[in-house]
Amino acid sequence: MPATNDLPAPAPLRDDPHPRPPRSVVVVGAGLAGAQTAAALRAHGFDGHLTVLGEEGLPPYDRPPLSKELVSRTEPLWLRDDLGVDLDALADEVRLADPVVAVEPGPTLTTRSGDRLAPDAVVLACGSRPVLPPGWDADVLHTAADADRLRADLRPGTRLVIVGAGWIGAEVAGVAAGAGAEVTVLEAGPAPLARQLGADVGAHLAPWYAEAGARLRLDATAAAVRRDGVTLTSGEEVPADVVLVAVGARPATAWLRGTLPEMVFDPAGGLLVDAGGAVPGADGVWAVGDVASRPHPELGVVPGGHWSAALHDPDATARAMLGLPAEPPQAPYVFSRQLGHDLALFGLPEGAPTAWRGTPGTGSWAAFWTAPTVGGPEDTAAGHDAGDGVAVVRAVLLVDAPKEVGAVRRAMNRPGPLRMDLERAGDPAVKLRTTVVT
Ligand SMILES: Cc1cc2nc3c(=O)[nH]c(=O)nc-3n(C[C@H](O)[C@H](O)[C@H](O)COP(=O)(O)OP(=O)(O)OC[C@H]3O[C@@H](n4cnc5c(N)ncnc54)[C@H](O)[C@@H]3O)c2cc1C
Repeated sequence: MPATNDLPAPAPLRDDPHPRPPRSVVVVGAGLAGAQTAAALRAHGFDGHLTVLGEEGLPPYDRPPLSKELVSRTEPLWLRDDLGVDLDALADEVRLADPVVAVEPGPTLTTRSGDRLAPDAVVLACGSRPVLPPGWDADVLHTAADADRLRADLRPGTRLVIVGAGWIGAEVAGVAAGAGAEVTVLEAGPAPLARQLGADVGAHLAPWYAEAGARLRLDATAAAVRRDGVTLTSGEEVPADVVLVAVGARPATAWLRGTLPEMVFDPAGGLLVDAGGAVPGADGVWAVGDVASRPHPELGVVPGGHWSAALHDPDATARAMLGLPAEPPQAPYVFSRQLGHDLALFGLPEGAPTAWRGTPGTGSWAAFWTAPTVGGPEDTAAGHDAGDGVAVVRAVLLVDAPKEVGAVRRAMNRPGPLRMDLERAGDPAVKLRTTVVT
């Protein structure tokens, strides 16, 4: 029974300078961000009624191993075991297969089973959906069920064609080739991860495919995708036993159109929330994880889609909901183990990197993206490169440099712009922490 319907407290008004903390909360989505929201609310003293509504019929699990350990891990990595987050212990009511189908102002929720809930607050933690262009018929990899299907189809000699050399395409290519599959990756762009990291960086990753036993075809655009093969825009047929489409994911917000104000949707469908995760113009509605695009004081609006956002943002949202002081936000962080290499990306890269460390493509190396130098005295004062090698850094990619991950994470999460001496940082013998200019 949805006990939340009986609770009398009205939704707090967002323009109320002292909004009353909610007494009942429904979390929509039982993934990482949903589970972390439940944990953070309880950790910060919320003792009201907490409901979590999921869709997949499974307790929360971690998605990154689905690709990185596709072949070796046959059971999901449960968040209860990995992070100690046990929904049954945290929430008054957990329904793992009763997704919300509608949210109305108030907020009022309707679930697939027909229940209507009227909590004081709702936290949208409904994640993202993999992109599968209309008319394409192939596998995707987003859920544990997807991973089970794909794993069952992969055998030594299986011709696996992967459309997209992004994060997931690269990770699956490596593990599938390692398991003996004949892997071909079709990438429409000029380099792997070109959309995410730029073609300059991507060019240094391209040789990894052949080294791992996979075939990478660049500038190869899929026009039609079927389960038995792909037709390229050139007309060429690429036959397959299994086709995996890995061309990105979009926030799972289509079902919220028409309910939430149109202005809160960014072009990708993410919800433009405030720093605490509140959805502007929708009293009592909050969003966390992949579904939320959140402002960062140095980086601007940061779209979801990072495991670290789903891990950390719920704490900020729980604090905001309960009227507790905010903590400094974390910079985005993406990690990937692909084709025998480790990547750690901090911040928001845009365009080509402006500085490198080591020899890209060889051993351990890094790329740095800096704030644009406009040239005026204000820019120089703000820390842009004034000819002394010091610049404001917006993103750092570390490749096969595990010992520098902690230092860069700490640097990226310091308050204020991150200024680094990139001349010194370019020398792999210099520890990156010593290049941060305070
Ligand atoms: C294969 C794979 C590998 C990845 N690897 C990395 C990585 O290496 N590094 C990295 O930073 N990130 C990685 N990611 C991304 C990372 O996993 C996500 O950013 C993170 O899982 C987001 O958590 P979330 O809780 O916001 O969303 P999700 O994990 O997507 O969880 C949302 C949940 O909500 C459910 N839901 C949707 N709609 C509704 C509804 N209406 N009602 C109720 N429930 C609903 C969904 O079914 C889902 O269970 C990877 C993702 C995938 C798929």
